[in-house]
Amino acid sequence: MLNPQGNLKIVLAGEGGQGVQTVAEIMAEAAFRSGYQALYIPSFGVEQRGGVSLAFVQVGRQPIGAPVFYTADLVGAFSLRAVKKIGGYLGDETWLFYDAHLEEEVKELYPSLERRVAIPALEVAREEMHPRVFNVVILGALGEATGLLPREAVTEALERQLGHKFAQDPSLREMNYRALERGQELCRLALAGEGAAGGQGEVRRGPGGERGPEKADRGRGGLVPGSLEPIITEDGQGRFYLYPALCKGCGLCIEKCPVRTIGWARQLGALGTPVVEPGHGEPCIACRQCQLVCPDCAIWIERRDGDKP
Ligand code: SF4
Ligand code: SF4
Repeated sequence: MLNPQGNLKIVLAGEGGQGVQTVAEIMAEAAFRSGYQALYIPSFGVEQRGGVSLAFVQVGRQPIGAPVFYTADLVGAFSLRAVKKIGGYLGDETWLFYDAHLEEEVKELYPSLERRVAIPALEVAREEMHPRVFNVVILGALGEATGLLPREAVTEALERQLGHKFAQDPSLREMNYRALERGQELCRLALAGEGAAGGQGEVRRGPGGERGPEKADRGRGGLVPGSLEPIITEDGQGRFYLYPALCKGCGLCIEKCPVRTIGWARQLGALGTPVVEPGHGEPCIACRQCQLVCPDCAIWIERRDGDKP
């Protein structure tokens, strides 16, 4: 659908934990395996300390001369901070794809940008599948938008990235394939006029329909953004306090928990990424590793017997 002069230049931006780098890598690999030139450059920045995760992808028929570019043909931005960050990559011809929950902010920040496309990826992932496949819905939508990435090539690249997880839990494969398909559908609907912006600075609603404050709250799992109320869960020897307003879903605590009890919750945090919860592996031993590694102080652990850990 995009038809730039030369290769397609893509910038993706989001929070650490949203899977932006995975999407970019799969897009580049799918393009390469489809016979295109492809280049992917991650810019991890310091997202675990509050920065935005950026990825730069170029695909096309022509040799890619330089990794750096300043104006993108396609930008995908999936958090408020990402939307604010990508302004420098937008030109008059740039297509900006963003999650539908950011519609008001996009409209306010870039009122003259004509090519705006709202994709309700977060809402669809959460309500139809699981918040964790949000990035695969995005992958489906952006892959469709490029018009360069055949479904089979994207599926193959997805298998190479996530096949080891699919092998452990085959239901994940079905869910991810479904997410890919839904992303493609959402993109087609949006570009058919139901989600793309009009020329007068008016943004038409995507397939998710009208979005008012009530819906925005639902998209955040019913949490009040900014609220510092913890979710308290007792598990094994520990009492696990999780502060959703601080958790940005980086997954570091999941990696470090020695008994693998921490996993992804269905509930979303303040940045629109899933928060974590105990109860997925062996019972908690109250070692406090998760509390120590969390870069955002989103976890507090108490021993249930009252002793100091
Ligand atoms: S609680 Fe876990 S997932 Fe959330 S910010 Fe802290 S380390 Fe990251
Ligand atoms: S306290 Fe230790 S065992 Fe319990 S959830 Fe945190 S890392 Fe895992």
